[in-house]
Amino acid sequence: MPLITMKTPLVEIDGDEMTRVLWALVKEKLILPHVDLKTEYYDLGIMNRDATDDNVSAESARAILRLGVGVKCATITSNTARKEEYGLKALHPSPNATIRAILDGTVFRKPIAVSRIRASVSTWKKPIVIGRHAYGDVYKAAEMEIEGPGRVELVYTRVDGVENRITVADFEGPGVVQGMHNFDGSIRSFARSCFLYALEEKLPVWFAAKDTISKTYDGRFKRIFAEVYENEFKAKCGEAGISYFYTLIDDAVARVIKGEGGFLWACKNYDGDVMSDMIASASGSLAMMTSVLVSPLGAFEYEAAHGTVQQHYYRWQKGEKTSTNPVALIFAWTGALAKRAELDGTEALAKFARRLEKATLDTIEAGKMTGDLAKLAGQPTALDSWEFVDTIAGRL
Ligand code: NAP
Ligand code: MG
Repeated sequence: MPLITMKTPLVEIDGDEMTRVLWALVKEKLILPHVDLKTEYYDLGIMNRDATDDNVSAESARAILRLGVGVKCATITSNTARKEEYGLKALHPSPNATIRAILDGTVFRKPIAVSRIRASVSTWKKPIVIGRHAYGDVYKAAEMEIEGPGRVELVYTRVDGVENRITVADFEGPGVVQGMHNFDGSIRSFARSCFLYALEEKLPVWFAAKDTISKTYDGRFKRIFAEVYENEFKAKCGEAGISYFYTLIDDAVARVIKGEGGFLWACKNYDGDVMSDMIASASGSLAMMTSVLVSPLGAFEYEAAHGTVQQHYYRWQKGEKTSTNPVALIFAWTGALAKRAELDGTEALAKFARRLEKATLDTIEAGKMTGDLAKLAGQPTALDSWEFVDTIAGRL
């Protein structure tokens, strides 16, 4: 069979440790035998990030903006232990944070459903997708310890010098204070990314905040979300049969647990951080969660939600064939290839992406899986990563 051709390259971002090992394996066994793969390659492995003073991270993000689609392997976020381990020149920011800052995106996390792995929540029939606003609030807050009696105020000094000041609290003894912010532009692009994603995936959108208590702050989120929906998406959502629903965050949590899933849950930054881990573990496994960064500038970056699976890597280095699950990495590739196909109008590539996903899921349904899933499915035997990928390749 001739190889499937690509029109436009996609941005390929390589990474670290066990996921770097699996990355090469997935390409070699599942993609290159079928696709005449065109990629613009960036090595975000920790050594190359260090060698390029981390310039390669920003370069890869700009390449995604230029080409529209990227696929990324998991990468080490450096800390002092990693600095020592790899003999790094310096500590660099998380590549994901660098890429997000350039693409101005929202992160969508979606569990990959297989019938053998049941969600812990028995009413869930369809995946719940989390859309997490990736800027501001408590993640960019200013905090201060208060040592004793005194007044804490919030002061806004306009560029012309006019001051607006309100009292936060009169302290009678020690305590603590925090000031947080967000920008209308960021909230608006968060809302836009959510509606774009929902139209793409044909999912209803839920957004929740706490505007009964936080009338100004959360109230502004609620208002901007509603404005973006009314002014830019209501007609398109109507045509696609997609609804928009706002409720209070506590009501949303209760409904999520009682509901059957099958919607996009748009979350403020902190809610998304907490709820995506809850959804991932209640749905099955971190190794079965995909992640896509959707930029309001029209670019898409696909990755697995998990990290570099460090402990498995150390065992692999000692010669062990680990049973690390490559499913989320495979789906990062299929997501990116399908998006490339959609943007380029290349039907054969789109079909290939769907077939690879089906071959992967059918392999698991047939009882062939890695150890993490075997444990959840109550199955005594498991394949190592190489056997698992070979089985998918055979089926494909
Ligand atoms: P992790 O790599 O996600 O692994 C945590 C644990 O989850 C593993 O030890 C393993 O459990 C299980 N696991 C995760 N993915 C798996 C898979 N595909 N197959 C089987 N089991 C899997 O998180 P971490 O150990 O906290 O972080 C390791 C490195 O990854 C860190 O340097 C961190 O900075 C980086 N990281 C990168 C990203 C990213 O690039 N997007 C995200 C998160 C973390 P068992 O050991 O019990 O088998
Ligand atoms: Mg978290």
